[in-house]
Amino acid sequence: MGTYRIAAIPGDGIGKEVIAAGCRALEQLANQKSDLKIEFETFPWGSDMYLETGEMMPADALETLRGFDAIYFGSAGDPRVPDHVSLWKLRLAICQGLDQYANIRPTKLLPGLASPLKTGTPATIDWFIVRENSEGEYSGAGGRVHQALSNEVGLDVSVITREGAERIQRFALEIARSRPRKKLTFVTKSNAQRHAMVLWDEVFEVVSTDYPDVQTDRVLVDAMAARFVTDPESIDTVVATNLHADVLSDLAAALSGSLGLAPTGNINPERNAPSMFEPIHGSAFDIMGHGSANPLGAIWSASLMLDHLGETDAASALFDAIERVTGEGSQLPRDLGGQAGTDEVTQAVCDAI
Ligand code: ATP
Repeated sequence: MGTYRIAAIPGDGIGKEVIAAGCRALEQLANQKSDLKIEFETFPWGSDMYLETGEMMPADALETLRGFDAIYFGSAGDPRVPDHVSLWKLRLAICQGLDQYANIRPTKLLPGLASPLKTGTPATIDWFIVRENSEGEYSGAGGRVHQALSNEVGLDVSVITREGAERIQRFALEIARSRPRKKLTFVTKSNAQRHAMVLWDEVFEVVSTDYPDVQTDRVLVDAMAARFVTDPESIDTVVATNLHADVLSDLAAALSGSLGLAPTGNINPERNAPSMFEPIHGSAFDIMGHGSANPLGAIWSASLMLDHLGETDAASALFDAIERVTGEGSQLPRDLGGQAGTDEVTQAVCDAI
């Protein structure tokens, strides 16, 4: 138990609303637990700052962040700023600069909530998607030539390195080993992408032999998308490259109820820099300022953050509070079929704590 310094970066759109909600829930938790202290410092980085200064965050931002135990992030994205600017100059700059190479995305069907799966709600959904977060299809390698001419070319090069593949695959195998079913689905697309993806496969063939107690299977990403819908209970832990896991985890979030519910962590497993926790949804400008954003994804992300900091009891207490709110059902946000606004859902979580 201890004192933690958290850098809060609400960012854009509803990020500001849900991070305020998450901080409120964390403060309530700290009030209940005399041996847990959380100090927030909030940074006004994001698209508003970009429109004023031309930068999404200051030049020394990474150095500043290194002084914190963890980062609590809202979202980056604003209709007035090109998406590649808002993403690469803030969120991805932090993930890459602080070597947060493992992106974790737990998905659960919470009490009281229904899944939109047509075949009816499965008895359980308990998935853990591990996303490679530093290279692959989002490596940033590539370029534009002959700009604005009719023969213009744009290239994004997918980069898989032996070291990058091995470290994320080991991370995922360790997580699979720590979960009751000890099962890992390895996602690939080496039938169509015959260089980087084949290396991705070859590394897994070697690394997985160190984990004989973990049951593994290998699935092409297109088939995997179908399996999330047709056979959800066959899935436990999943590892996939940056783009593949990005798409699969939004699908997983929607199947578990709503995008507004899903949490994620960008993890630096070596712990030589802080990790960053955020809801997976974006800035959702269509509902910004309405007071209707679902704060549960941000609050669940705060629970992942506590878990990463070693505060497992506090993490469970926060997650239990979320489950009590969904199970009880009278204070559900609109995207989960209820009527409650951000403030009321947050208050319900605080009361449950
Ligand atoms: P970005 O460009 O930043 O990714 P976006 O608006 O394109 O943002 P999301 O924010 O991920 O995409 O969400 C898509 C839609 O889902 C939103 O327009 C919104 O209607 C809904 N949504 C997302 N998050 C929430 C939430 N927390 N509460 C309620 N609805 C949400």
